[in-house]
Amino acid sequence: MDFFVKFWGTRGSIPTPGNRTHIYGGNTACVEIRIDGVLFLCDAGSGLRELGLDLMQRKEQPKQVHMFFSHAHWDHIQGFPFFIPAYVPSNTVVVYGTEPGDNKFYDLLSGQMQSDYFPVNFSDLGSKIVPDALDKDGKVIDGVLVKCIPQIHHGPSYGYSFEKEGHKVVYATDSELDQELGNKEAVEADPSIPRQIPKRFVDFARGADLIIADGQYTDHEYASKAGFGHPRATTLVDLALQAGISQLAVTHHDPMQSDDMVSAKIDACRARVNQLNGDLLVFAAREGMELQIF
Ligand SMILES: [Zn+2]
Ligand SMILES: [Zn+2]
Repeated sequence: MDFFVKFWGTRGSIPTPGNRTHIYGGNTACVEIRIDGVLFLCDAGSGLRELGLDLMQRKEQPKQVHMFFSHAHWDHIQGFPFFIPAYVPSNTVVVYGTEPGDNKFYDLLSGQMQSDYFPVNFSDLGSKIVPDALDKDGKVIDGVLVKCIPQIHHGPSYGYSFEKEGHKVVYATDSELDQELGNKEAVEADPSIPRQIPKRFVDFARGADLIIADGQYTDHEYASKAGFGHPRATTLVDLALQAGISQLAVTHHDPMQSDDMVSAKIDACRARVNQLNGDLLVFAAREGMELQIF
């Protein structure tokens, strides 16, 4: 089986080009998941533009893409109008809602292309853009089981899992896990103790080969950002260990964080792995990084 993950946008909130961010990248949320040639896209932040250009150059250009959205905050949809494959008449773009009959992301994508915002209308894009939706228990799409879960965010947001033949990747961005820790007060008094992650998130992610998750803040930053919709990166370590996951990619880096600051954030996560006597590979999601799952 061919199972690949590639990061095209790893920044949260707003694109941050420049010298301070050139290692981990300045484009907003976009991840490509390719399983036996079937193409899934998670979020359409500004990184989607680069992905679209890359798709146009590939020897085997996919005729169909399956798009999933965590939610429709700007940093997760702003790349869509610049996604060149959506302009190619022979292509099909399937935009999924999270439950039967749910067209919200399809509608929101078309809303952001109204003439006050963008010169090309959604209905004038050349490709066939079709709404679809997951069923209550997910959906098998070209042999890949896709499931979703509502998360803790303003809106809310949704996490997704992609599973085939015993391999599983979870994409879970924009979720403030720290708000619903089972032992929140005890953790506030002593952040070093294990943090009880809500069971539904642990169950959803259980056994994944890789989780790509929102770790926007350092512990220090979180002290003044609680309630903003994003967790401490270190809390992801607790989630991954409790769910028996072997690899954690921290993403949705705060726009204020330079490359050095992102590296330090990951160091803090690795220190937490040691503190909890865990076995977990932690790294920062970086624009252009491609992983093979096996
Ligand atoms: Zn975001
Ligand atoms: Zn958001």
